[in-house]
Amino acid sequence: MKKFALAGNPNSGKTTLFNLLTGSTAHVGNWPGVTVDKREGVYKKLSEPVGIIDLPGIYSLSPYTPEEVISRNYILDEKPDCVINIVDATNLERNLYLTTQLMEIDVPVIVALNMIDEVEKAGDSIDAAKLESKIGLPVVKISALKNQGIEELMRRGFEVSKHPRKGTTVLEGGKLTHLIGDCKIALEGAGVDNALFHAIKLAEMDELEVKMHPKSAGMVEEFKKTFSDDVFGSDFEAIVADSRYKYIAHNYSSVLTKKHKSEKEKLSKSDKIDRVLTHKVWGIPIFLVILFAVFHLTFSEDLLWIGAALPEGWVSLPGTAFEGVFGDGGINSPGVILFNLVDLATSSISDAIGDAMAAGGVADWATGLVVDGIFGGLFAVISFLPQILVLFLFFSILEDTGYMARVAFILDRIFRRFGLSGRAFMPMIMGFGCSVPAMVNTRTLADENERLATIRVIPFFSCGAKLPILTAVAGGIAQITGLGNADLITYGMYVLGIAVAIAAVLIMRNTTMKGEAPPFIMELPSYRTPQFRSLVMLLWDKTKHFIKKAFTIILASTIVIWFISHFSFNWKFLADEQMNESILAGIGQLIRPLFTPIGFGSQLNDWGWVFVVAAITGLIAKENVIATFGTLAACITSGFVADEALEGVDSVAQMISATGIGVPALIAFIAFNMLTIPCFAAVATAKAEMPSKKKFNYTIIFWVVTSYIVSSMVYLIGEWWWTLFIWLAVWAVAITLTVLYNKGKLKNIKLPKISLKKRS
Ligand code: GDP
Ligand code: MG
Repeated sequence: MKKFALAGNPNSGKTTLFNLLTGSTAHVGNWPGVTVDKREGVYKKLSEPVGIIDLPGIYSLSPYTPEEVISRNYILDEKPDCVINIVDATNLERNLYLTTQLMEIDVPVIVALNMIDEVEKAGDSIDAAKLESKIGLPVVKISALKNQGIEELMRRGFEVSKHPRKGTTVLEGGKLTHLIGDCKIALEGAGVDNALFHAIKLAEMDELEVKMHPKSAGMVEEFKKTFSDDVFGSDFEAIVADSRYKYIAHNYSSVLTKKHKSEKEKLSKSDKIDRVLTHKVWGIPIFLVILFAVFHLTFSEDLLWIGAALPEGWVSLPGTAFEGVFGDGGINSPGVILFNLVDLATSSISDAIGDAMAAGGVADWATGLVVDGIFGGLFAVISFLPQILVLFLFFSILEDTGYMARVAFILDRIFRRFGLSGRAFMPMIMGFGCSVPAMVNTRTLADENERLATIRVIPFFSCGAKLPILTAVAGGIAQITGLGNADLITYGMYVLGIAVAIAAVLIMRNTTMKGEAPPFIMELPSYRTPQFRSLVMLLWDKTKHFIKKAFTIILASTIVIWFISHFSFNWKFLADEQMNESILAGIGQLIRPLFTPIGFGSQLNDWGWVFVVAAITGLIAKENVIATFGTLAACITSGFVADEALEGVDSVAQMISATGIGVPALIAFIAFNMLTIPCFAAVATAKAEMPSKKKFNYTIIFWVVTSYIVSSMVYLIGEWWWTLFIWLAVWAVAITLTVLYNKGKLKNIKLPKISLKKRS
């Protein structure tokens, strides 16, 4: 099978094109550095199937970070049949810089002028035919987002892939060409592939190149000496780069016709928006308000707080099947309405099955297993899918518009001096989706210690799987105690997660994981309108993933939980009300004293072990926490045969009344689950991304200790407010000691300047 590689600058639309060509759903984000590893798929619309490889973004073929090395090596070593060079047409000159390097390799190259829709929208035009004749490579205008020009691109790419191509270069000017020519001949003589490319890189003294071909590097130095002294100066790399840019400006830039005025207007508009959103003082409050709005729209049961002003029973539709679905007192947010609808459906299903089994004379234990064990647990989780999707929708809108990249920029400005760079916030923000890809994304961090610290705190950014815990417990609190709004509690917990993450990184960066934050040079991506199609695709992908997980891991776990909660250690079957004698209860009782300082240990009554047990099942998959509640709640409620499976919020409400747990302990319970060892998949990823077993072991300890400290802090302060002063004192002492310990060394730490490059 032929292989086509997608190469281009970060954020130029490679992954979007990859998804379009192969029908995949890889993560696309409006910020540089989303893709950190190569990814393969197949395009099937040509006469034969063609393999497509999505590579991490690169600005040049002289790489600085590991993921850039992946791209370069792929093109050089794997020798794809064609390189599709994706060029962001709204940013032509800078993108062609890479093109001038790719053309030096002996590989067929085709240039895809992407984002042509935006160019046209701005009223500009690009003469592709003219560019093609100047550059000597086929050029096709496309829009990966709007699916324009794709077939032509692939057809022509397929044509060029049939003929081998020799590298060409735009570098010119007497001595330079001479030197490169000499090197090239020498390398060819030595039988090196891609002689032209390597000759140029050697002449540039490219680090990677010198390492790979030390002998040739020495030879090039000799060559350089044969020219009269100092022609090339010391910074050869800069000379070459300069010469490329000059060439581009002289020869290629004329293909672009700009409608000048509107370009300026557009720039100043996005500048104005940036001035507000990345404001020194208001940037963070604005972020917190936007975040709250998202939670309000997802979790509120009293949208815009207008419930009190509504006429009695106005939205609650009393007496109908939809009673309370759209609101009860206040208007429900879209997230809650969807939640209620799914809840309605799932509980009718499990009721109907329960009734049918009872009527059909099925043994009570079997009915119990199916209704409580399977449906109770499974549906408890599935009913949260709508809210997970709504929250993801909002997060991906924030990401696609380019706002999240601004958040990273604001945070960089504050935390850089403490050794945490804005780059590290990008994978953290990805963690709101799932920790696994987020941990992989940390590969873009150059400082090893910063990378480690970041991996450790990524799970604190509450992922989709933890959402049911937050929502159910917050909902239970709101329902039973009437204290607070579910949206406010959920929001508070997300913010707590972020705060703990930042605090933990800062502590690590100033104690065990010291290092300088490398300068944060990230372009602020342009603001974009999120595309409906890609949002739908993302949500569909999440749904598939979630359903698959529900019917495998979570289903299996709930069945196991049901069994070990209905059998005693001597394998006697137990009725629901005897559950306290079960294996599960035994294990729970045994370890619960450990959780007393967090509020859900020995101080609770006989049923109190359920919290400990639920937290432990969460180590497999975080959804299990609520699935376990679902399974157990149904049994705790009723006498023998469960008459009703209790889902989500109701199951937590049931737990609250059965165990007598209080609000501070419930919040501590959420905090514990958010911060403790994440799910299996995340742990495995963390292990794979860590440099050593020892660092990984410390990471596990770190998770356990952090969750324990923070949640006991939450519990103790919530229960006895004055313990706040004890905690403050403890922290003050700890910080003072650290500062004193570091004192001598602190003076020597240089603070790199924040660099911000903007798209021009
Ligand atoms: P990558 O970093 O090169 O993989 O780029 P992505 O595929 O992640 O895309 C970066 C951003 O550009 C995303 O916000 C995309 O929605 C957007 N994008 C990609 N292709 C196009 C296009 O043809 N037109 C427009 N307007 N936006 C695009
Ligand atoms: Mg990408």
